[in-house]
Amino acid sequence: MLVYKFGGTSVGSAERMVQVSNLIVDEKPKIVVLSAVSGTTNALVGICDAYYAGDKPLVEKLVADFKPKYDQHIYELLEGEAAREEAHALMDEKYALLNSYSVEGFSTEQEREIHAQGELISTKLMHLYLTEKGVNSVLLPALDFMRSENGEPAYPEIEKRLEATLAQHKGETLFITQGYICTNEFEKVDNLQRGGSDYTATIIGACVNAVEVQIWTDIDGMHNNDPRFVENTKAVEQLTYDEAAELAYFGAKILHPLAVLPAQTKDIPVRLKNTMAPKAFGTLIGPTSDNAIPVKSVAAKNGIVAIKIKSSRMLMAYGFLKQVFEVFEKYSTPIDMITTSEVAVSLTIDNDTHLEEIVRDLQSLGLVEVDKDMTIVCVVGQMLVENANIVSSVVNALKSLPVRMISYGGSKSNISVLIPTFEKNNALNLLHKELYSEELV
Ligand code: ADP
Ligand code: ASP
Ligand code: MG
Repeated sequence: MLVYKFGGTSVGSAERMVQVSNLIVDEKPKIVVLSAVSGTTNALVGICDAYYAGDKPLVEKLVADFKPKYDQHIYELLEGEAAREEAHALMDEKYALLNSYSVEGFSTEQEREIHAQGELISTKLMHLYLTEKGVNSVLLPALDFMRSENGEPAYPEIEKRLEATLAQHKGETLFITQGYICTNEFEKVDNLQRGGSDYTATIIGACVNAVEVQIWTDIDGMHNNDPRFVENTKAVEQLTYDEAAELAYFGAKILHPLAVLPAQTKDIPVRLKNTMAPKAFGTLIGPTSDNAIPVKSVAAKNGIVAIKIKSSRMLMAYGFLKQVFEVFEKYSTPIDMITTSEVAVSLTIDNDTHLEEIVRDLQSLGLVEVDKDMTIVCVVGQMLVENANIVSSVVNALKSLPVRMISYGGSKSNISVLIPTFEKNNALNLLHKELYSEELV
């Protein structure tokens, strides 16, 4: 079995959906995971915000805004009257649902139901199109088998349910399902966080022991820097699981931060491909990558908070760091970067939900300073620590910037630097110039 995932842009118009259909109709058995039509999930988030703000007229306006876009999509995608009617009936049902909640007591449970509608729509439209074209496919409702528990994929349950579902469709080779959405341990609709369709694809891949997972998007693979901020980036042909996971975790939007792990656990290759240029090689993620290219890519993650705890009690003492870590453990807040000196420890978090409580507890250990609006810039590759050229290039490239922390040596594959977010663009471009000059690569 193969697993293919197509992102929002790849199903963003009728023309794109037709392109997708051309990529999936060969005989090879596959499960196709689709995202919502681009812009839809953002719009659904906007609708929930309007509910929370108690602004029902705004809800109605935002729901009505969907209509012209989807009317056109349906008109261009489907030819037959019956198929068009079915699609319009689906949309009318969705508009009614999106308008049906009350602003009083609007809850996260209802919010998640709303967020789920984008993928439910896109998969149904694709299924209608394939049916109209005479292509056999089975629409598998992800809410029936994608299960999360305590916010994590419940692998044994997903595996069991998927096996049972697929067994009901012996002989079929093309399955279409929704990315991103799942049900949780309370049988309520939930999701795998924004961008979660990639994660759906690799979770499914791991559960069916797929031959390969292909993530189809709007760019020809993982580039060697963030193409949203840097010009002349280029695709990296091979990445190890660890390299890809670090890049995804540290901000390479092309992959959901957690999407690599399920594939890595089962040693399933993950290929990143461009729907608009299917012949381009893309990026192959697997157990090994090309040693000749030491620096694979640079990524950046915003929304970082730096916390410094200064205490003379740390001097020559043991057990101090343990006390610091216990505070973060108490509030289930992961630490990303850490540097220490004899009298101070600096660390970063990307989840500030419990920042106030964390700072309050840390104050009993020493003087606490907090810096918000920080960005981690992360250089990822192989043997970075052994290669003195690379280390000095990173430091040299950023010499004009107010670097707050450097994490080097923690792993061979990562050098991380903390800078104020307003310098991010600058940092990515300076690193690009320095790292990909002829001498280094
Ligand atoms: P999809 O909707 O298909 O899931 P995304 O928008 O989530 O697509 O991810 C693709 C986008 O990721 C690209 O258009 C690109 O702007 C962005 N991106 C960020 N960093 C990288 C990188 N290092 N390589 C490639 N794309 C990147
Ligand atoms: N539609 C969801 C989002 O926009 C999930 C995804 O596209 O991966 O975040
Ligand atoms: Mg995405």
